[in-house]
Amino acid sequence: MSKSQAMSVRPYRDITRRKSRQIRVGDVLVGGDAPITVQSMTNTLTTDVDATVAQVLAMEEAGADIVRISVPDEASSAALKDIIKQVNVPIVADIHFHYKRGIEAAEAGAACLRINPGNIGSAARVREVVSAAKDHGCSMRIGVNAGSLEKDLLEKYGEPCPEAMVESALNHARILEDNDFYEFKISVKASDAFLGVAAYQGLAEACDYPLHLGITEAGGLQAGTVLSSIGIGNLLWAGIGDTLRVSLSADPVEEVKVGYHILKSLGLRTRGVKVVSCPSCARQGFDVVKTVAAVEERLQHIRTPISLSIIGCVVNGPGEAKETDIGLTGGGSDNHKVYVGGVPDHNTSSEEMIDHIVKLVQDKADAIEAEKENS
Ligand code: SF4
Repeated sequence: MSKSQAMSVRPYRDITRRKSRQIRVGDVLVGGDAPITVQSMTNTLTTDVDATVAQVLAMEEAGADIVRISVPDEASSAALKDIIKQVNVPIVADIHFHYKRGIEAAEAGAACLRINPGNIGSAARVREVVSAAKDHGCSMRIGVNAGSLEKDLLEKYGEPCPEAMVESALNHARILEDNDFYEFKISVKASDAFLGVAAYQGLAEACDYPLHLGITEAGGLQAGTVLSSIGIGNLLWAGIGDTLRVSLSADPVEEVKVGYHILKSLGLRTRGVKVVSCPSCARQGFDVVKTVAAVEERLQHIRTPISLSIIGCVVNGPGEAKETDIGLTGGGSDNHKVYVGGVPDHNTSSEEMIDHIVKLVQDKADAIEAEKENS
């Protein structure tokens, strides 16, 4: 337990992270005491360089720390090189079976290869890929998926199960270890949260490699967000996980946003404005739902961690405002109370409210950033 955890004022909020070894994905650290990172994956054609770069930049804007790109053929390897030059985050090349793509991707500047060494053929091929990774400072991710487990493991265990997934991951890991390569992280994904979570729990016990979390093929935006929050959230809460990707059949930017929401909900990372708002009811002094939607939309560019409460009436408004940097509580006669630093500060009207709150939050973010620069 770290010193800060030992001295925690609110021990019920503490999460003790599993101790994992630390690796590098480009200039981003994964594992150890590095912040838990958020990843996503492009869904454009990799050979469409402009579209892929635009998508990576949109993900960066939303806060992605690492982005993965599929490299299914030689033309994609060539495009990868152009893409990497135009983006800022480290790129993981998704390889699967073609060992040559792995070598090309490492040469193209990929920071990490998503590749299962057991799937790429002979020991000589594995050696070639590992040597390319070493030469170019590339790490790797072993990605076990319940839907594509090796035949011998399916025969041994009868069906995809946590033990089979852990064994598969450790088999792949051993191949890299035998090549004196330890710069890798592992994922054991399943679309079934019970299976995925149990596999990650088993793997967390069995090794100290950093773990990349995900519930694969989780579904559309709403259902996939719920399923991922349960699966990934459960693991993170138990201290397991060093990086994550939320898989949604939706715009990848949404995956990044959901990933952050999961981390923010568990107090594992902070980024941007955290809005605390009530569901609203007949007591509301203003339209809470519309106000929250408008404020969230207008404040989504802010990266500075700030908390904001938007509460419809005095039943819960003053209490929530006490715990947030800026608070708004609906009052009667179109007279709503604004709280700054937890204390009542001044009033605002329904008409001015949204512009006013947006400005207060923006000013606060600017002040925090200016202070950071001066310190
Ligand atoms: S805080 Fe007030 S307006 Fe919001 S749900 Fe509760 S009682 Fe209703």
